[in-house]
Order: sequence, then C-alpha cells, then structure tokens
Amino acid sequence: MRVGVLESETDFAGWRRAARAFRLAGTPPADAAFRVGEGGGGLFDEAPPVGDGGAQFPVPRAFVELAEAVILHRSEDRFDLLYRLLWRLGREPDLLRVLSDRDVADALERAKNVSRASHKMKAFVRFRLSEEEGAEHWISWFEPAHRVLERTAPFFARRFATMRWSILTPDGAAHWDGDRLSFGPPATRDMAPAEDEIEDFWKTYYASTFNPARLKTRTMRGEMPKRYWANLPEASLIPDLVASAATRSEAMIATPAPEPNARLAKTLSRLNRDRAFEEGFTPSSLEELGQAVQACRRCPLWRDATQGVCGQGARKARLMIVGEQPGDHEDLSGRPFVGPAGQVLDAALAEAGIDRDDAFVTNAVKHFKHVPRGKRRIHQTPTTSEVTACRWWLDAERALVRPRVILSLGGTAALGVLGQKPAVTRMRGQALALPDATALLTIHPSYLLRLPDPEAAARERERFFADLKMVQRLL
Ligand code: SF4
Repeated sequence: MRVGVLESETDFAGWRRAARAFRLAGTPPADAAFRVGEGGGGLFDEAPPVGDGGAQFPVPRAFVELAEAVILHRSEDRFDLLYRLLWRLGREPDLLRVLSDRDVADALERAKNVSRASHKMKAFVRFRLSEEEGAEHWISWFEPAHRVLERTAPFFARRFATMRWSILTPDGAAHWDGDRLSFGPPATRDMAPAEDEIEDFWKTYYASTFNPARLKTRTMRGEMPKRYWANLPEASLIPDLVASAATRSEAMIATPAPEPNARLAKTLSRLNRDRAFEEGFTPSSLEELGQAVQACRRCPLWRDATQGVCGQGARKARLMIVGEQPGDHEDLSGRPFVGPAGQVLDAALAEAGIDRDDAFVTNAVKHFKHVPRGKRRIHQTPTTSEVTACRWWLDAERALVRPRVILSLGGTAALGVLGQKPAVTRMRGQALALPDATALLTIHPSYLLRLPDPEAAARERERFFADLKMVQRLL
C-alpha cells in the first residue's frame, strides 16, 4: 500500500500531486491511500513533478471541477473515490457521461451536497456586531455541513466589502479587513458574540415574513435544517410561529382581497409610452454608464455622496430589481445592496427561490442622500424631482440590460420605474405592461419590519411572497 500525505482535509493541490504520481507509477486504486497529516509506513510524499519527462495524461476539465468540490465533502473515503475515478478515466475517457455508474453517481451526489452546503452558508451566516477599540467588527459563528469555508468566503468579501468581518467555524476562520481575505485556525462558538442589537431585527424580520398559510414543516426543515438553528436569531421563534399557524391562517382567509386598480395601470402604461432618452449622450455599455454617472449634475445629490452607485449583476439579466438609493455601505463601496440591508434582500430572495446573482440589482437614485448626525450619516428619502432627474440613468440601465421583468421595491423605486408614484400597496402583485418590460410593484422588504401588528404583518408577508412568486412565473 502506498500512501499520499496531504496537508489538510481540503488540500486539493496535495491530493492532485499524489494522485498524479500514483497513476504515473501505475499504482491501482486498491494499492493507493491518502492520509491527512503525518502518515504511517510507505509514506509517499515526494510525488513526481507535473510533466516530468513528458509523462502526462489528459484529464477532463469536468473531472477537475468535480474533484475540487468532492474533496470538500466530509466523507472519509472521498480521496479514494476520486482516485478510483481518475484511474478509470485512463481506460474509460467518457466515464463521467455514464450517470448510472456507481462511482460517477456517488461523486456527483457528494458534489451536490457540497454545493448545497455552500448555498446554506450564504443564506444562514448571521453577523453579530462586536466593537474593538471603537471600530466595528462583524463576527459570525457557523457550522457548515461540509468544508466549504474557503470556497464560500469570497462571496461574503464581495457582498460585504465595506464591513470588517470574520466567519468562525470548527474547520477554520475567514477574515476580511476591507481589503484582504485571510484564513486562520479552527475556532469555537464562544469566540463569537452571543447576540447583539440587530438580533431583534432578524427576529422581527422573520416573524413578519413567516407565512402561516404556506406552512409546510417538512419543506421548512429541508430549507432551514435544524443544524443551522443555533446560529440563527430567528430560529427561537419557530416553535411558537408553527404552533399559531392554523389560527393565523384562518384570520387571513377571512380577510377580503384588494380590488385590482385597472385604471391606474392603464394610466401608467400610457405615461410610459414613447419614453426616450434626453440629450445627446447615450452610454453604449454599463462600464461607460458607471463612469459617466460620476460626472452627473442633474440634481444636487452628488455633492455629499462619495460616489455614484450604478446597478450590478448579470449583464443580460431577465430580472432587474430596483431599490430606492444607495445607503451608507453602498456609498462607500460603490456597490448596490451590500451591508446589513443587503442581507435582508438576499434572505427574502433566497426564500422565494430567486438567485440574486442571475438578476441585475440597481436603485432609482444613484447618489446617497443623507444628513450628518454626529459621526453617522442618516438616510433621507429622495424628493420627487431628484428621482425624476435620476430616471435618465435608470432608463439607460434598462436599455442596456433589457430585462424581461422589473421588480420595483417601494414607492421611490416605483416612481423611478414608472415615472409616477402610484399607491404601491394597491398596485402590488399586478403585472404592468411597459414598453420595454413587465413591471411588478411591491413593497420594500424593510417595510415588513415596521408593522407592529402580527396579523397585519402576516397578511403583508403573504402578499410579498406572492409577488416574488409571480416574478418567477413571469420569468
Ligand atoms: Fe445625477 Fe442621479 Fe446623482 Fe442626481 S442622484 S446627481 S440625477 S446621478
């Protein structure tokens, strides 16, 4: 038996070196093994270099990608499974296409489990605020189902670029200082703060978005497995919410549905007919638009903002999501919907089964409107004239991305999208045919947080969920 020694449980480069050496030496899977750390007798830690003496063999790119995922699985025998596949690929080059093959199916299933663990990490990491020498440090404790920390940490670096954060796990820790991502040794739960002031925020959010009429406990357990509950502030509410679901559903059924406002929809459609860009300049790309917005002086908001923040996401996204304006974090980072508010949007979309990365996310107004209060910058709602001035940029984004569906979040966004501020609470849930896309108005997710009455919150949540599901259908 020959043994390849790997530096860590996720040492893909080490496994690849050893596996390549085994195969070049003609070592069959039955005589090859892999160990993490110092191995026993027959140590095989000096693998031949790649391409040594021209000794190479082709490996499909699909296998490398599969192996990079499978190696993060917590199963003990994953190294052996991968080497068995690598060995067989020498004689069966199309092996990965045989989905009924036991090894192939096994590897694909493990890769799927790893991908799911990464997705759950994106959805269920909850940062808690910790102060260090007056500076904010956001810390999260998380126990991923598989070893996906290093694979998933770049997502948080992109999404929360302006925050200093750490994600602590039993496998290791990821740290972002606003500039550089680094990794450290395993951590324990007591190294993370137990709770903070936004704990109540998550509880209120979850309680107000919990839909008793759609309660399916089995599905809920699948989507939010119990293993993640310990880190979720909102999880403590679940037993009570489930227990009261039947009573709340009956109250919702007894509430009459609002009448659709056909007249307003017709007026809006007419108002948006024949809309065209003003002035001579028309940006030919999103990059050009992003640069040009920095020189915009159409309204006074540029004066106090750090920079203009344009939309980001898929270039030809079928879905465009329009919010109000950049906030403090967005203004500093130059990216829309990052910071704690971005977490709320991500959670709501994930709950509805919509992948934010497939959408183009932007705002009706591109510069941050605020007033200083001490060291803080307090958000101010843009005026109608400011939103109207900034519609030129939103229109330009619409023309470049050409979304099929536009989801408008809140009244300011509706004004930017439609050119008129409709009563969003009456119009939401209706598909509005615009010249370039179908628009759907809904409330801003933060609105759900401001409803003190649980019954009203449940009704609003029902409608919000229906709006997001309708987006899926329209797509
Ligand atoms: Fe121009 Fe919009 Fe900025 Fe006003 S908010 S200066 S219209 S980009």
